Amino acid sequence: MAKDYYEILGVSRDATQEEIKKAYRRLARKYHPDLNPGDKAAEEKFKEIQEAYEVLSDPKKRSEYDRYGTVGGRSYSPPPGGDAGFEGFDFSGFGDFSFEDIFSDLFSRRGRAEKGPRRGEDLTYTLTIPFEEAVKGGIITIKVKRMDRCPHCEGSGVEPGSRPTTCPNCGGTGRVQLSRGYLKFATVCPVCHGTGVLPGQKCRVCNGEGRVYKEETIKVRIPPGVRDGGRLRIPGKGNVGPKGGPPGDLYIIVNVLPHPVFRRQGDDIYITLPVTYSEAALGASVEVPTLDGKARLKIPPGTKSGQKLRLRGKGVPRPNGTRGDMYVEVKIVPPDITDVKVRELLRELSRYENPDKIRKGLL
Ligand SMILES: [Zn+2]
Ligand SMILES: [Zn+2]
Repeated sequence: MAKDYYEILGVSRDATQEEIKKAYRRLARKYHPDLNPGDKAAEEKFKEIQEAYEVLSDPKKRSEYDRYGTVGGRSYSPPPGGDAGFEGFDFSGFGDFSFEDIFSDLFSRRGRAEKGPRRGEDLTYTLTIPFEEAVKGGIITIKVKRMDRCPHCEGSGVEPGSRPTTCPNCGGTGRVQLSRGYLKFATVCPVCHGTGVLPGQKCRVCNGEGRVYKEETIKVRIPPGVRDGGRLRIPGKGNVGPKGGPPGDLYIIVNVLPHPVFRRQGDDIYITLPVTYSEAALGASVEVPTLDGKARLKIPPGTKSGQKLRLRGKGVPRPNGTRGDMYVEVKIVPPDITDVKVRELLRELSRYENPDKIRKGLL
């Protein structure tokens, strides 16, 4: 006579695939031969469960079974007197489950039990500052939303006044026996993580996390000369860990706004200085902006367009106390040729110029 596979798995006729899978896993774990060494009844039961699952987990086989009570023309009832024992059983064909799949719940619970109090997460904060502030440094106050110790339970996650109870899973010993085949071994109780006690009720403020969100005002010291994209670490100002774990760090990512006049390359500062024909040709003393305010710069006679004049030590401060340099790039601006007198003078000048000489070797 044909077996009732639904009855074997303990599911209804209209059970979903998920329900069938769940029932199978539960039963397979209970009757697995490795956990019931020498128990013939369990072995028989396990084979039945395998068989039922093989059919019901396959929609094609399942509908055939529903219609005819058999699959593939053969009855799934055991062969007469066919007690082949477990030797003939193909362990590789366990539906889609391996031994580890069946016991994955146990494995993962053991994995969790080994974790201690966790460190809190690091946080990042992008801080945009003006160019001058990056060069000179200073103290900036920021507001950061971070997780801090719950004030109600003081980080424990336990509602104040509620009492711990003895762990019902291990009876307070903190260890439980696990069987694998003929082996029995003790392991840390997955419910109480080996402590033998269960803490009291979860804190109603933080829901047992031991930490809550809080907006905090933090003073950030910007070191002089900080670069665009630079990262500053503020230790201990990340999230605190759950249940009293140590805090992570806060990382400030510095975003430096460009300056309309100063350009920065490493620790050096560049500016472009427009000069007249005669200033460049005859030399001059001109006022230039620097990071420290106005300064006098000598344009030597015969200065060419694009030439860079250096102001030593007028660049960006370095951590070791020295400073980079400043470079003034000369840009010669032609005179106003709408002026008749200027055009007249330039024509006069052109008689003394030698364009072939300055372009020699070019063509
Ligand atoms: Zn326990
Ligand atoms: Zn709390």
